[in-house]
Amino acid sequence: MTAANQIYDILIIGAGAAGLFLAANLHGKSVAILEKNPSAGKKIIASGGGKCNVTNRYISAQNYLGDEEFVTKTLLNLDFSEVLEFFSELKFKEIKQNQFFCASSAKDVLGVLLRASQQSGAKIFYNCDVKSVSKISDPTKSDANAHNGLSNSQNEIFEILTHNGQKFSCKHLVIASGGLSYKALGASDIGYEIAMSFGMQVARTAPALVGFTVQKDEFWFKNLSGVSLNAEISLSAKNIAERKFSGDVLFTHKGISGPAVLNASLFWQKGTMSINFLPNFSFKNLNSKKQLSTILPLPKRFTLEFLKSINLADNSFNEYSQAEKTEILKLQEYKFAPAGTFGFERAEVTKGGVLTNELNQNFESKKQRNLYFIGEVLDVTGMLGGYNIHFAFASAKVVSDCLELRLERWLNYN
Ligand SMILES: Cc1cc2nc3c(=O)[nH]c(=O)nc-3n(C[C@H](O)[C@H](O)[C@H](O)COP(=O)(O)OP(=O)(O)OC[C@H]3O[C@@H](n4cnc5c(N)ncnc54)[C@H](O)[C@@H]3O)c2cc1C
Repeated sequence: MTAANQIYDILIIGAGAAGLFLAANLHGKSVAILEKNPSAGKKIIASGGGKCNVTNRYISAQNYLGDEEFVTKTLLNLDFSEVLEFFSELKFKEIKQNQFFCASSAKDVLGVLLRASQQSGAKIFYNCDVKSVSKISDPTKSDANAHNGLSNSQNEIFEILTHNGQKFSCKHLVIASGGLSYKALGASDIGYEIAMSFGMQVARTAPALVGFTVQKDEFWFKNLSGVSLNAEISLSAKNIAERKFSGDVLFTHKGISGPAVLNASLFWQKGTMSINFLPNFSFKNLNSKKQLSTILPLPKRFTLEFLKSINLADNSFNEYSQAEKTEILKLQEYKFAPAGTFGFERAEVTKGGVLTNELNQNFESKKQRNLYFIGEVLDVTGMLGGYNIHFAFASAKVVSDCLELRLERWLNYN
């Protein structure tokens, strides 16, 4: 039997954060990982600006878009300290007193994951673009066995077909193929396709942690390309509590980006948003005779463009009429509807995906025994701050604990 046509205990689709962490935590099983790229963990290498923000000191379901109870339970399985322990050979810098970035390079984070999964005996098959999955009867089970009362699912295995016609077989199949963002790094919709082929529901996908393009009224943003400032973004939608996001807003030639915008994009549903460009400033008692562009704690270029957009000259505040002052005060509640987002090409993550209510507490499909989904392919998306990689690891940990126990029992029984 060749490596490719043996029946693996566990086969993982995707050598990213979730797939590798899972393989690293499985012991004494035959494990294969199929990866469409010629190398593993391309997204890990690109993450955190090349420094990979692996986890966060303060993680809760509040940091995620997804089923609150499901996320809370998942997070209980992996503490941030356990992630740091796993990568104990590396040094991490704690930024903003909560986010852990690798002090050397994201490549070192990938190196630890690869070594750990190899030490666990996992074999990675590169350039294996999975195209479909089906269930077939286990050829190793005799006819007698097939009629000795075992249910169909116990006699069946998964058959995985790749783009070049290669076939792989396994007893337990884990989908860790990620979302649709950053196609250049290997993204594909195979996870959703597999879920749907087994009758599971997939929530509509959309780019998230991504910048916004603007409509005509905000074209003045584009003239500010390269300018960055601290602001507060508010989102409110019908029947949803208002959410606020503080941080840098970066103007680009396409629209707006930066941490506050990326976080807002996670929760934005088509409609208006409001930006407070002066979150810690009061216009009360503003009696200075100096021009607005000098007195406001904003980049001068920004104030001048803003005034131009409302057809006002750069005067001292008291020189403006009441109506003009009202227009200027909109700097603290600038309402607009983005045209859209920069799209999957620039999105750090994908919101939507395989619905978590299709899974049991072990991340196993309720519709198909021995089929699991972990990481970004699921309808759980984190904010900026290490929450997505942490979720990929935490979901992988749940499945590794489950499979270790399940296969142990199976070995003892047989
Ligand atoms: C630029 C950028 C920076 C980011 N920075 C951070 C950060 O600092 N911290 C953080 O928490 N999150 C960050 N994220 C998000 C984070 O990287 C992902 O959420 C996380 O890597 C998801 O892990 P995953 O294993 O589920 O999916 P992925 O890491 O996407 O892995 C999926 C793997 O499956 C493979 N695959 C896909 N389709 C197939 C197929 N058909 N056949 C075989 N293999 C397939 C892919 O090639 C890939 O290797 C960043 C994302 C980007 C794009």
